[in-house]
Amino acid sequence: MINTNDPIIDQYLARLIGSDGVGIIKKMPPGEIVDEVVAADVGIDINGIRRTLFKLYENRLASYRRERNPETGWLTYHWTLHLDNIENRLDLEFEKLLDNIKERLTFELDNTFYICNNNCARFIFETASETDFICPVCGEELIHQDNEKLTHGLIGRISEMDSVLGS
Ligand SMILES: [Zn+2]
Repeated sequence: MINTNDPIIDQYLARLIGSDGVGIIKKMPPGEIVDEVVAADVGIDINGIRRTLFKLYENRLASYRRERNPETGWLTYHWTLHLDNIENRLDLEFEKLLDNIKERLTFELDNTFYICNNNCARFIFETASETDFICPVCGEELIHQDNEKLTHGLIGRISEMDSVLGS
């Protein structure tokens, strides 16, 4: 039985392999397993188990070794889960997210934004000037949008995340 009581880890896994997949790995016994044996033991469809395991494998959360039956030529997959790698994966995701927010902040600081009263879309100066500051969706005038609150929010989030990484 896999212990995934951490809600962040559960969420991460659910995004990766779906709630069906989470259900499957929670039913798996610890140690090395053979997919067909588990499928029979816990009564889950073998394709569902394989899909889940290969998805985990792609994300370095599972590994396998193959054994060929010399008589039948049939391949057996012996799987091992490496769910302790999730923390590393989460760290990577966190850093990726932080990079994205920093990029977004640069974009916000480097541009001037325009919107119409109907909030159809948000345009950067270059785009707004191409349509003479008329919203291409509704035809209303485009007015300058102050993004100071947004950039402040981004800066706050970045410093929070930076301090988590630094600690
Ligand atoms: Zn509009």
